[in-house]
Amino acid sequence: MKFGGTSMAGTERIRRVANIVRRQQAAGHEVAVVVSAMAGETDRLVNFCREANPLYDPAEYDVVVAAGEQITSGLLALTLQALGCKARSWLGWQLPIHTDNAHAKTRIGEIDAGEVIASMQAGEIAVIPGFQGLAEDGRVATLGRGGSDTSAVAVAAAVKADRCDIYTDVDGVYTTDPRIVAKARKLKAVTFEEMLELASVGSKVLQTRSVSLAMKEKVPVQVLSSFIDDDAPLADELPGTLIVSEEELEGLDMESQLITGIAADKNEAKVILTRVPDRPGAVASVFTPLAAANINVDMIIQNVGRDKGETDVTFTVPGADLVRTQALLEEQKPQIGFNRIITDPKVAKISVVGVGMRSHAGIASTMFKALADRGINIQAISTSEIKVSVLIDEDETELAVRVLHTAYGLDAVEDAA
Ligand code: ADP
Ligand code: ASP
Ligand code: MG
Repeated sequence: MKFGGTSMAGTERIRRVANIVRRQQAAGHEVAVVVSAMAGETDRLVNFCREANPLYDPAEYDVVVAAGEQITSGLLALTLQALGCKARSWLGWQLPIHTDNAHAKTRIGEIDAGEVIASMQAGEIAVIPGFQGLAEDGRVATLGRGGSDTSAVAVAAAVKADRCDIYTDVDGVYTTDPRIVAKARKLKAVTFEEMLELASVGSKVLQTRSVSLAMKEKVPVQVLSSFIDDDAPLADELPGTLIVSEEELEGLDMESQLITGIAADKNEAKVILTRVPDRPGAVASVFTPLAAANINVDMIIQNVGRDKGETDVTFTVPGADLVRTQALLEEQKPQIGFNRIITDPKVAKISVVGVGMRSHAGIASTMFKALADRGINIQAISTSEIKVSVLIDEDETELAVRVLHTAYGLDAVEDAA
């Protein structure tokens, strides 16, 4: 069981969480619980680091930001004990959850779960702080923002759990962010692949890496709400959204949809290089220095060549890397030989995702037509086997998501009554 920041925000919320955990144990389960810091706490700790030293050392940053989860894991163990349950906390370095040395964005390797499994078998609830682990250098390390989801899936795999239940502030995965589109519809199940695409293009209900780990380790995941009453159905009745393999999904006998979900991401920025020489190697000279600087280029278009053997190249990078990208390209200007850099951070990437695309034509044209009908201009396009993404003006994000949600027939039907 994993509980996110809103679920852990304060002693009252933690008491609700403890009740949910206690009910699950009473239903006959051995339980490990992974917790996030209280909502807003990690942001607060990150700010302290920035104030202390804008060029902070990532290893010391980890010491600071891992603290939020240490507090909530202890508080949940205490609250469970107050309810008469046996419970103890296991900090990342105690299990340990081994990670690499990439401080502030470390990856989980092995987890030594032997002791924790023995303790769970003896009826003790294991409470594990998410987001943190023990790096090879012997120091605490954190997984990157939203990383408690990944901790939960990794612990579930290590203790060979039947399921990883991710409790949050919405009752499942929706066709699009239910906080933005009121007509979003809750999905009973989605495939790992679809969830992976949705998470990576902006549906931050799960950290992307947690989904790839669940897919690799074959851990069934359920997303469900912690904002429930004592008499709400147990997680075993699967009230939330299941994330499973395609084969398991077929077994669930669901009405198949062409499009599963729509996501928006406002964190990309657009870069246009004008009048790049139209010759072999030109594009490589643009992207090689960016790759060397670990800047992730996403959408790319090379426009039709102009006269005189020149072409414009348009691409997107994470907004946070825009300044560095511009500096690197200016530095390389003599080698690349372009005329001008034009940048625009006010763009949004809108993506539609669904495995149904593999076998159906016309998904992209529906998207382009629906956007055109509302006068929304498309600045770039990219596709994968189960996804189509377009880049648009950031101001039109919500409108575009709503228009597409309707165009693909995803809107929730109003109750007839
Ligand atoms: P937690 O603190 O529990 O980890 P998060 O804030 O990380 O919670 O994730 C839950 C939020 O994800 C929801 O409040 C919702 O606004 C957002 N979200 C974005 N896309 C979706 C989606 N397709 N389905 C459900 N929630 C979504
Ligand atoms: N507390 C961490 C964060 O806010 C990890 C998490 O909640 O998943 O990023
Ligand atoms: Mg989260």
